[in-house]
Amino acid sequence: MAGTAPDGGLFVPETLPARSPGSFPDAADFSAVAAHLLAPFFTGSSLAVELDAICREALDFPVPVRCLETDPALGVLELFHGPTAAFKDVGARFLAACMRRILACGQLMRPPVTILVATSGDTGGAVAAAFHRQPGIRVVVLFPEGRVSARQQHQLTCWGDNILSLAVRGEFDDCQRLVKACFADPEITGIHQLCSANSINVGRLLPQAAYYARASLEHFRRTGRKPSFIIPTGNLGNGFACVWARRMGLPIGRILLATNANTTIPDFLATGSWLPRTSVPTLASAMDVGDPSNMERLRKLYPETSQLRDEVGAAAVDDSGIRSTIADEYARHQLPWCPHTATAFHLYRQLPESERRGQDWIVVATAHAAKFDEIVEPLLGCTVEPPAELAALLDLPASFRTISPDIQALVACLD
Ligand SMILES: *Cc1c(COP(=O)(O)O)cnc(C)c1O
Repeated sequence: MAGTAPDGGLFVPETLPARSPGSFPDAADFSAVAAHLLAPFFTGSSLAVELDAICREALDFPVPVRCLETDPALGVLELFHGPTAAFKDVGARFLAACMRRILACGQLMRPPVTILVATSGDTGGAVAAAFHRQPGIRVVVLFPEGRVSARQQHQLTCWGDNILSLAVRGEFDDCQRLVKACFADPEITGIHQLCSANSINVGRLLPQAAYYARASLEHFRRTGRKPSFIIPTGNLGNGFACVWARRMGLPIGRILLATNANTTIPDFLATGSWLPRTSVPTLASAMDVGDPSNMERLRKLYPETSQLRDEVGAAAVDDSGIRSTIADEYARHQLPWCPHTATAFHLYRQLPESERRGQDWIVVATAHAAKFDEIVEPLLGCTVEPPAELAALLDLPASFRTISPDIQALVACLD
């Protein structure tokens, strides 16, 4: 429920439990794999007896690995079949299912609780969808005015009921600053019970490890080989979950992180110097992060840079690489990929022939291309149909309030 630790750092498990591949149930059953993987983390928690039900309720959509006819050695882990068509649904739905039960037994906090979330596009929609109409919980979503795609904005603003959407006249960093300022203000926290649902919450990271567990087990049981993953990366939540899964014993080979022109992570692996910076806007906007928070967790796990370099690789892809990849992959196998997913495909195509052939690769698809139609459609010269659930959201009326980027304006909306 706390999100960040009291000292301002991030929570990490004291130890990572070992989960041998043979101990898992049928890899076809995502929620059963997740419940087995996560059980040790819930030992001693009031949620332990609920874990199966939480996984069944939250992880109720497929996370398939698609095989490409034109590239038999390559798989695509499609993480966009949830209600808001991006991988953030996995973490947001799991967190919501946990929080609802915690609040229902009134142990830590008493309702009503206000969840404050700053978003650069996909997180806000996933969190709003996951908590919509949950009793005792109100969600306030802050997004930067004019900086999200039209369909993302619709997804952030179509809910009503217990969801309040605020367009902030500023950038994502302003939204995040306002949220942090609220949590740090005793006057505000004295009146409102505030809770965060941002991507550094362990309640979002843990279930993300489960789709790597499922995909790697399925591949390993079928072929006897460990798949390697290429993961579009911004704040490193998705990629880090894969590192956890491998450390717990899942059959995962290499892990490559694909960033956009925000190169803090590849620069660090190349030079050994950690130099966070302000983000630059790119076509893969959900990855526009100049100071990836989860690096703290990765460095805790592998304190030596040399060790870290053995564990993960990283490379950056600029906007022209993203554009050409979207067009090239469509020409190759007639499938549209979103700008984020394109960074991972680009890295795959750049691998030396020997590495591409030497192991089995799975590219991770983080969002459906139809969420970024303004970017993708002109490159393909055709329309990309939104999946049914996204289409239904796009038909709902939208409403939001616009505020200036100061805390008084935000507090006035909380009352
Ligand atoms: C959030 C997001 C990312 C980046 O994920 P991180 O966990 O921040 O590295 C990539 N692609 C899409 C579509 C996203 O929404």
